[in-house]
Amino acid sequence: MLSASFNNYSRAWHTKPLHAMDNKKAYRPKWDHYFMTMAMMIAQRSTCDRLLAGSVLVRDKRVIGTGYNGSPSGLDHCDDVGHLMHEGHCIRTLHSEENTVIQAAKLGIITEGSTLYTTYSPCYHCLKKMIAAGVKRIVVGQIYRDTRIFETCMKAGVQLEIHQPDTKWLDHLTELYQTAPREKLGDIKPGDAHVEDRTSSQTF
Ligand SMILES: [Zn+2]
Ligand SMILES: [Zn+2]
Repeated sequence: MLSASFNNYSRAWHTKPLHAMDNKKAYRPKWDHYFMTMAMMIAQRSTCDRLLAGSVLVRDKRVIGTGYNGSPSGLDHCDDVGHLMHEGHCIRTLHSEENTVIQAAKLGIITEGSTLYTTYSPCYHCLKKMIAAGVKRIVVGQIYRDTRIFETCMKAGVQLEIHQPDTKWLDHLTELYQTAPREKLGDIKPGDAHVEDRTSSQTF
């Protein structure tokens, strides 16, 4: 039997009329919008509120690394203990771009010829690391501080682009998050193969 919490969860997702969910393919994002949306989501995991930044490293249209501004695993986070300032910068965290490449390295994935999607343009230090890792294209949500990166990218043969958001896609995302999941959870019967029996006091 489904628990009360599961039913409440189902109802919560149905505050919009069901007809709003009928059009299953209202919009299919282009690759740049698809990956940049991921970077925006990933930024929300940042632990240094001086800048919430997110990045996705992509090769052959496949995600090979993700990263946000955050301390290495096991170390203190700015959100918990405050910033660690040095010459006007917080140095407690690794930047989102660094974390994407480090994640790929940790998992043994080749970064040569990859594309970086990142919410803010890289700082000079991160840009050097991206060039050294073989990143060939960088798509940024917006330019942040250091404009020397334009010249540096040109010299290194890295394509640098400022992402142009697609308002239709953003509108679709807003609608998606108000109605998701599209599945009619209220119609799921206990015993359906993909339904867990949530009889514990688990909350969502
Ligand atoms: Zn910080
Ligand atoms: Zn950086």
